[in-house]
Amino acid sequence: MQTNPINLLDAVNVDSVRCECLVIGSGVGGSVAGARLAEAGRDVLVVEEGELSTVPRYSNKIGQMTALLYRGGGITPFLGRPMIGFAEACCAGGGSVINGGLLWRTPPHILQEWKEEFGLAGFDEVALRAHFETVERRLCVNRHCTEEGNRDSQLLKKAANQFNWKVVAVPRALVNCTNLNLCATGCPSGAKQTMLETYLADACKKGARLLPNCRVYKLESKGSSRVGRARCSLQLPHGQKKYVDIEADEFFLSGGAVQTPHLLAKSGLAPHVGQRLQYHLNLKFAAKFATPVHAEQGTMFTQQVQEFEREGLYMMASNCQPNYLAATLVTHHRKEIEKLLNERFYWALYVAQLRSKSVAKIISAWNEPIVLNHFHSSDFENFKKACIRMSQLLFGAGAIQIYLPIAGAHPVSSEKEVTQALQSAQPSQCRLISVHAMASCPMGNHSTAITNTDGGLKGFDNIVLCDASILPTNIGESPQGTIMALAHEILDRRVSLNFRAHKVAVTRGVAAPKPRMNME
Ligand SMILES: Cc1cc2nc3c(=O)[nH]c(=O)nc-3n(C[C@H](O)[C@H](O)[C@H](O)COP(=O)(O)OP(=O)(O)OC[C@H]3O[C@@H](n4cnc5c(N)ncnc54)[C@H](O)[C@@H]3O)c2cc1C
Repeated sequence: MQTNPINLLDAVNVDSVRCECLVIGSGVGGSVAGARLAEAGRDVLVVEEGELSTVPRYSNKIGQMTALLYRGGGITPFLGRPMIGFAEACCAGGGSVINGGLLWRTPPHILQEWKEEFGLAGFDEVALRAHFETVERRLCVNRHCTEEGNRDSQLLKKAANQFNWKVVAVPRALVNCTNLNLCATGCPSGAKQTMLETYLADACKKGARLLPNCRVYKLESKGSSRVGRARCSLQLPHGQKKYVDIEADEFFLSGGAVQTPHLLAKSGLAPHVGQRLQYHLNLKFAAKFATPVHAEQGTMFTQQVQEFEREGLYMMASNCQPNYLAATLVTHHRKEIEKLLNERFYWALYVAQLRSKSVAKIISAWNEPIVLNHFHSSDFENFKKACIRMSQLLFGAGAIQIYLPIAGAHPVSSEKEVTQALQSAQPSQCRLISVHAMASCPMGNHSTAITNTDGGLKGFDNIVLCDASILPTNIGESPQGTIMALAHEILDRRVSLNFRAHKVAVTRGVAAPKPRMNME
């Protein structure tokens, strides 16, 4: 539940605002930035394009909640063949409000890859351990989810054990989860430890303010290597809009892996940004069991099969509500959807999560970005492998029918039918979604890196990127933990840099800037 209030800035009657540090985006990366800066005594304003809505407003009206909390009302496509439905948050608290609260540490082999391939120093397991511990403590991460009601996960675990496949209880940022199965549309019980309950609240406790409904549409430079102000549009009640300029000494961009590079490109600050967006692919399977599973009575999932981690494949259950069951069969005949919904207590949803090899390009010619995806041929091969492995697991778990993520395909009842269905499938028929985008502004010392290893945008002194965009590559596993640990590391590096600058200014007899929030 909300422990600390969020301080709001009322900008309805002002045209310009000044602050020391402007954080753009109040999601996972932005909230860490806001909290760390405010704790260091800086005068912080966090602007957020989406609305601020908190626990009492979250309900089981999935359609309404999706429209309220997601960008574009739910899904924005990555264009290409196959089309990929991408979902991300647009609300105060960002992805933490609509995600599953899974909080994984970065898989060690990924950190090793970053070190070997990108020469990334100071981001190894040992260096990041303290940050993960801090994040896990603050978000109350635990693996103690009750198994009661989570029969879908239990069936998966049992089958994995039969095959001797690695399966683990998942670490989640939860306190007293009541299994409402509504994680993806705002947890109405307040069990999920979102940024609103934790880092953003901590930032506000130290004086930071939040300005919701405020989209930064342009950053204007001041000289050749600094940004001077952010130009913003503020959404007012009753559909009205007004413009506000925000001046700041330092800018922290945390709009997420699509919006951060889009803003940089639109502002002409990094013309070649966003050329190599990476992501994970989610393949959804609907499985019918001989006896009721009541998957809607559990939480998102409690177990994850990690046997094929090195191949970039994870398998787990998924949130199961009638809306999601129906959406899984959206390319099927209405009668099939109705039948599935009538039998819904026997059905459960599962996800195979793939570390995609494809890269996408962000086109920033218009107000909203367009994402063009180039589907890598190996992703189709991995798609087929994932279908085979997930079906094996689900049949092992007792499934009697499975809908594969292939548009319009009949349900399969045996591994032989899976092979047949995959033989005739084309890449354009793959039904794919993604909820994890990253690495569009990778950090590092290499020539294609967009940011330095302290998150600073190359060529600029006062812009820091602090979100999923700076990951050097995709990581296979859910990224919130990694984003937060990297954000901590970056803020440590930046804050100590700034403290040094303050000290020098003071010893030379120049007054260090005082925290301020002037509304001019
Ligand atoms: C359904 C779903 C389930 C997920 N489950 C998990 C999970 O269980 N575990 C996990 O690790 N990850 C999960 N993720 C992914 C995770 O939530 C994201 O990777 C993470 O939130 C990204 O953090 P971020 O800071 O980059 O951006 P976000 O958290 O998305 O925050 C960006 C914020 O910036 C705002 N913004 C963007 N542009 C502007 C602008 N120009 N001006 C002002 N504001 C702007 C946005 O509105 C948004 O609120 C899930 C994602 C989804 C969609």
